[in-house]
Amino acid sequence: MGRTTIVELVAPGVRRLQPYVPGKPISELEREYGVRDIVKLASNENPLGPGPVARAAMAKALTEIGLYPDGNGYELKLRLARHHGVPIESITLGNGSNDVLVLLAEAFLTADTNAVFSQYCFAVYPIAVQATGAAARVAPALPASAAMPLGHDLAALARLVDATTRLVFVANPNNPTGTWLEERALREFVERLPPTVVAVVDEAYFEYSRAAQLPDCSRWLGELPNLVITRTFSKAYGLAGLRVGYALSSPEIADTLNRVRQPFNVNSVALAAAGGALDDTVHLEHSVDLNRSGLKQLGEGLRALGITVLPSAANFVLVDLGGPAGPIHEGLLRQGVIARPVGNYGLPNHLRVTSGTPEQNERFLRALYSVIGRPA
Ligand code: PMP
Repeated sequence: MGRTTIVELVAPGVRRLQPYVPGKPISELEREYGVRDIVKLASNENPLGPGPVARAAMAKALTEIGLYPDGNGYELKLRLARHHGVPIESITLGNGSNDVLVLLAEAFLTADTNAVFSQYCFAVYPIAVQATGAAARVAPALPASAAMPLGHDLAALARLVDATTRLVFVANPNNPTGTWLEERALREFVERLPPTVVAVVDEAYFEYSRAAQLPDCSRWLGELPNLVITRTFSKAYGLAGLRVGYALSSPEIADTLNRVRQPFNVNSVALAAAGGALDDTVHLEHSVDLNRSGLKQLGEGLRALGITVLPSAANFVLVDLGGPAGPIHEGLLRQGVIARPVGNYGLPNHLRVTSGTPEQNERFLRALYSVIGRPA
């Protein structure tokens, strides 16, 4: 008998997977390029990090890390239930909202089903879907000339749904495009899905997008039993490194997700910090205000360089450089500025840039100016 290679033993869905490409860590750039004083605008984190209430809660929780966390995350769920006005049974906690997205795929997908999402959607949807062996159906995005350039095309998504579709993923706003969906159109889309489909509305950037008047789809939960909303503490709440997110859904869906969830998927420091972050509305408002002015600064600075910026309801902008982004990204790295190339999303001419502090945004704009050498 011939020797079986490990690759042949791997589940077919997993074999075809392309790993997620994260933003370049600061330490890696230091190692590779020997640069210091680095600005990272590559992973849509809050440049302020967590606020004082979350920091104090973390410090307290550190004294108890010899013990396992509360596997049910009761305290945090209770706060979230009050925050959203939903029953505690509607909440599923995750190790980041990424975890919850994977749990959804594991719970609802099998090799003979499919999931639908858009071109240029968040990269974790295809990974989570393909790992289960289910088919991924990708709807073309809106064209660059549309009012919402490269945004989700709800009609195209709806056309891909059939009797074997179990999940539809929609991000509002979407990463990496920053584009969004209007309340009415999104509501109609979800309402018209067959009862055999679970609609996942990913609101990772909700606290920022609320400021841009995007809908709070969690308010529809009581009326739409197949709706799941995912949220995170990684963005506006400033806790990306701790990994905590959650899903809001019907109790039935939450019960299902809890069956596949690891018993202690959210660590005790993260549970405590998230509770503190929820209470700290001052820090949240400050973070959202900083983002609003940061987006304005980036938009104005980029347009002054003659560069096209897509509309964004998140804490980043997608920038169309009109030519290959690779060399420009490389030039920025040499100056200690990390932005995010999005060639892996099929956007080789674009860069995604997170809105940082005014100083960080200025550093990026100056570095870009020096790399492209175009007059301001
Ligand atoms: N959804 C979207 C649209 C995102 O951009 C991200 C993070 N980049 C996530 C979900 C996952 O974030 P986390 O796991 O940190 O909650």
